[in-house]
Amino acid sequence: MADSTVERKTVALIAHDNKKPTMIDFGLKHRDVLSRYELVATGTTGTLLSEQVGLNIRRVLSGPLGGDAQIAAMAAQGEIEAVFFFIDPLDKHPHDPDINTLLRICNVHNVPLATNPATAECVLVALDR
Ligand code: PGA
Repeated sequence: MADSTVERKTVALIAHDNKKPTMIDFGLKHRDVLSRYELVATGTTGTLLSEQVGLNIRRVLSGPLGGDAQIAAMAAQGEIEAVFFFIDPLDKHPHDPDINTLLRICNVHNVPLATNPATAECVLVALDR
């Protein structure tokens, strides 16, 4: 029987605007695995995953308003098991410094970080083990 006192691990989900449809597809495909985790997402990504995939998600601020920085802080504090951050490399982002902070913090603290769907599939298999 599952021990309800065991704290569930947290996974972070973020998608740039052009990658949001990809994130929705990813969420639909892997809803069962994802729903075993505490989920945190930037504002708009979280709303979409909640409304279109039915996942229960804690939302932080929208990325451009500081959401990436909030998730970076959580990762730095050891609160994040993995980050799925679908980046759009073909667009400019006003919050580039925050994006780079999140990427850097994941690398500093050795947090699994998937920035494209192919890598996300691999990380998800590992999480599912
Ligand atoms: P959003 O933020 O989910 O609020 O759109 C994502 C981002 O651009 O970092």
